[in-house]
Amino acid sequence: MPSPAYDPERELKDLEPWQRELREQFPIITGNSHLAYLDSAATAQKPQAVLDAVHTYLTTTNANAARGAYLWANRTTELVERTKDVVRHFLGDPEAGRRDARSGVHFTGGTTDGLRAVARDWLAGRLTDGDVILVPAADHRANHEPWLEVQRLLAARGVHITVRELPYQESSGDYDHRAFPGVVDPRTRFVAATHVHHVHGGDMNVHRIREAVGPDVPICLDAAQSVGHLPLSVARLDVDFVVFSGHKALALPGVGAVWSRDTRGPAFRPGGWQGTPNTVGIASLEAALRWLDAAGTDRIDRWTTALAARLTDALRRLPAYQVLGCQAGLAAGAAVQRRHGIVTFRHRDIPSDDLGFILDSHGLMVRADDLCQAGRTDGQGSVRVSVHVYNTVQEIDRLLTVLGELA
Ligand code: PMP
Repeated sequence: MPSPAYDPERELKDLEPWQRELREQFPIITGNSHLAYLDSAATAQKPQAVLDAVHTYLTTTNANAARGAYLWANRTTELVERTKDVVRHFLGDPEAGRRDARSGVHFTGGTTDGLRAVARDWLAGRLTDGDVILVPAADHRANHEPWLEVQRLLAARGVHITVRELPYQESSGDYDHRAFPGVVDPRTRFVAATHVHHVHGGDMNVHRIREAVGPDVPICLDAAQSVGHLPLSVARLDVDFVVFSGHKALALPGVGAVWSRDTRGPAFRPGGWQGTPNTVGIASLEAALRWLDAAGTDRIDRWTTALAARLTDALRRLPAYQVLGCQAGLAAGAAVQRRHGIVTFRHRDIPSDDLGFILDSHGLMVRADDLCQAGRTDGQGSVRVSVHVYNTVQEIDRLLTVLGELA
């Protein structure tokens, strides 16, 4: 985490030669330099290495996995098994590379699909009458609805569980850890949390949840906005499930993974018959994670955090705009930069969807709506700018010029 003396301008200057070389590897970006893609929290663009991996797989090896024992089928099965280990390695799992690894990697359709699988195929069978689970109520809907579905499913069988909201503080964009003792009790059996918030870009400090619930309660982490954006270590986070989407981590849509371990409960296994896996997606995921690893997720985080800081700093000087979440951090002199490449704001007079149209007419592609945030019923949208390694200082400044004119 950046220190209070953090200087984003210096970061951007230091990393610029490194970044320029990486940006060159994204054909959709270099081929459209008149446009600025500022919606990577929704989905990320793909480097040439990922496009090549997809092409190579489909033109040399395409077959079904774990079915058939001929050359291409075997190679595809190997690809799937190898990519499980690439995922382990990428997530800092100490069992990566071990033939007897007890941690599991299961490929899914994405984060939504993965969280639902953990809810339905693991959690539902483990809860008994009177148990309590803690879930985020101001995070992505994908990390809220599956847990409520479990509650409904169990209620239909006469098992009544309590679903409590993880205390959350709008002003900081973080969970309110001081209020944790009020919701944790001896019947707490499970916590669902988010690693990096998709609206505010803040790290949700999951270590504080671990401190509050103690060593025995499983934690499931929605890492949709952190995998591929910053270094993530399951060893350090001490969580039991990490769920993410390939498409936000430079791979194709339609593939994701659930990483899990069996130290606080039985191993996770998706229920029922598993059909054909998304082998092309898995090929793209292998290439994407290797590419990210070589680029360095620490530097990617430094770059995207510094771009977000440049934007936040400038918006703070324009009273027409209100930056959402982390308001406490916006006090002069404080470290406002604790945003991992995501900044969400509103104009005080211009409705957010209008602002989105205006920015689009300037070739600035941002997200402007309710951002799929659970519990958001005020009908007030917001504008989200989210960056990845291919975005530049010039793109942020182009955005700021237009926002400045509208201020
Ligand atoms: N969780 C978070 C934090 C997200 O940002 C998103 C996607 N915006 C999701 C879950 C859902 O991901 P997907 O649509 O890939 O399933």
